[in-house]
Amino acid sequence: MIPVNEPLLDGNELKYVSECITTGWISSAGKFITEFENQWAQYCGMKHGISLCNGTVALELAIEVLDLPRGSEIILPSFTIISCAQAITKAGCKPVVVDCDPDTWCMDVNQIEDAITPKTRAIMPVHIYGHPVDMDPIMELAAQHGLTVIEDAAEVHGAEYKGKKCGSMGHISCFSFFANKIITTGEGGMVLTNDDRLAEKLRAYRNLCFQEKQRFLHDEIGHNYRFTNIQAAVGLAQFERIEAFVERKRDMAARYSRGLSGLPVKLPVERPWAKNVYWMYGTVIDEETKLNAKELASRLRSDGIETRPFFLGIHEQPVFEKMGFFKGVSLPVTERIARQGLYLPSGQAITDEQIDYIIEKVKQEFA
Ligand SMILES: *Cc1c(COP(=O)(O)O)cnc(C)c1O
Repeated sequence: MIPVNEPLLDGNELKYVSECITTGWISSAGKFITEFENQWAQYCGMKHGISLCNGTVALELAIEVLDLPRGSEIILPSFTIISCAQAITKAGCKPVVVDCDPDTWCMDVNQIEDAITPKTRAIMPVHIYGHPVDMDPIMELAAQHGLTVIEDAAEVHGAEYKGKKCGSMGHISCFSFFANKIITTGEGGMVLTNDDRLAEKLRAYRNLCFQEKQRFLHDEIGHNYRFTNIQAAVGLAQFERIEAFVERKRDMAARYSRGLSGLPVKLPVERPWAKNVYWMYGTVIDEETKLNAKELASRLRSDGIETRPFFLGIHEQPVFEKMGFFKGVSLPVTERIARQGLYLPSGQAITDEQIDYIIEKVKQEFA
């Protein structure tokens, strides 16, 4: 079976992890943590990096530290992972979803203005499958209406919008370093911000709001969302090769796109203002083919190829229906690509021969 994503851990990962073990620095203190935070923040062009145990809690904490009144509305794309919407509901806020662009699969920025109400407090753009969101219109609307922008950059390590790194444009940005992300720490996440006050709050909330002056005196309730020195050791070794990893993703995508051109499937795009890092190589099958993603996935599975379906939109999730959200909401693009889209194996460990085999098999399905 060709796995949908296999990480590559053949750099300094073992060396740095061994150093954690031999020196005893295996927990949430140690030099690799601050080094990783500083390097990632600097790479992305933000002042502060606050590492966390995963990307889901990065989103949760990013919203929590904004201290929004209950019932505040946050606008996000429906086409995203559950983490985004649940971070909003857990904070007592209301997720307001918009549809996505049929080409980039990122939120349709033209739909945001109509979604703004007096209760709107934030916008959460999510860069999807490696392609940046069109950020300028979002930042303009945010400035006009006094909204905070929380960027979810989990899927776009190294991607750029008009020459700026994804994760550098919002007031606060969130990353994941899960095993399938472009660089990984196994599990792991980070929040970046230029705001000193938010950074301080994020660090406190990450660590149970212990206080410097009197450790066991607490003014607020926090969490244990700490990241470990072992995770940071893996992360630093991965980070050393980020440029090569990004280049490889772009090469893989070019190879897939050459091989699959002409088939009745939509391939990933790269807008003139974007540097797409093709986190996952997504394809959307034309509806006229009468083939859907589920069917293609099961046929490819019998050829030894693992794939993943696209996200099912947030507005179609039973859990949110139960909570009374999104009544009567219909978002045609999100609904279509959820059923017609899947992504092909695109981890760092895949070989060109494997990609060529996958291309051949996909072609056979449409022959
Ligand atoms: C992976 C991912 C997350 C969640 O990160 P975890 O580390 O898996 O919790 C959040 N947002 C997006 C867009 C993701 O792809």
